[in-house]
Amino acid sequence: MLKKKINTLLIGTNNKGKYREIKDLLPKSIKIYSTSNFKLKSPIENGNTFKENSLLKAKYFSKKTNLICLADDSGLEVDSLNKKPGIFSARWGGPSGDFNKAIKKVFRELDKKDKNWRKKKITARFVCVLSICYLNKIIASVKGKIEGTISSNPKGKNGFGYDPIFIPLKKKKTFGEMKPSSKYKIDHRSIAFKKIRKFL
Ligand code: IMP
Repeated sequence: MLKKKINTLLIGTNNKGKYREIKDLLPKSIKIYSTSNFKLKSPIENGNTFKENSLLKAKYFSKKTNLICLADDSGLEVDSLNKKPGIFSARWGGPSGDFNKAIKKVFRELDKKDKNWRKKKITARFVCVLSICYLNKIIASVKGKIEGTISSNPKGKNGFGYDPIFIPLKKKKTFGEMKPSSKYKIDHRSIAFKKIRKFL
């Protein structure tokens, strides 16, 4: 662990939804930079796991800026789709990152597996790996998960990505229908964040 507390941090993501959420979780005493402050493009995510991609992003953005970087790699795993989209969650939205397109693809893939999937419980989870790196050095890397099911139709306009189709376990509303503050309290990113907090 670092001896000195981190007082300046780059959030290594070009995804506005993630940036907002991570920023809200961080202590207000930390001076935060975003990738747009440096006009940085995202690296090619050629890792095979959430952890590999999260480390790859944290190292890449740290080396570009010489700042300590916190990056996340996250996604949705649908059990009946062999855990897809998984690390391809962002890519299912196509080059423009269109989340409606990504959701339609989940429904299309579920239809291909079973036309009656809407009558069944489709188990899924959001996974998030958060990593903090300084240049090539790994300061921390932790994982958070939240289990749930896929809604038969998209519901709610809040959040981003697959939020309108994910119903967390023991809840009735999708993440898209919940207030952002209610989502942040329970989601995969906040679970990972609780584990990484001591490094900040
Ligand atoms: P990446 O980590 O940048 O490769 O992208 C992860 C993708 O997973 C996002 O673009 C979203 O499509 C999806 N995702 C990750 N976390 C969430 C979340 O909290 N809500 C909805 N979708 C998410």
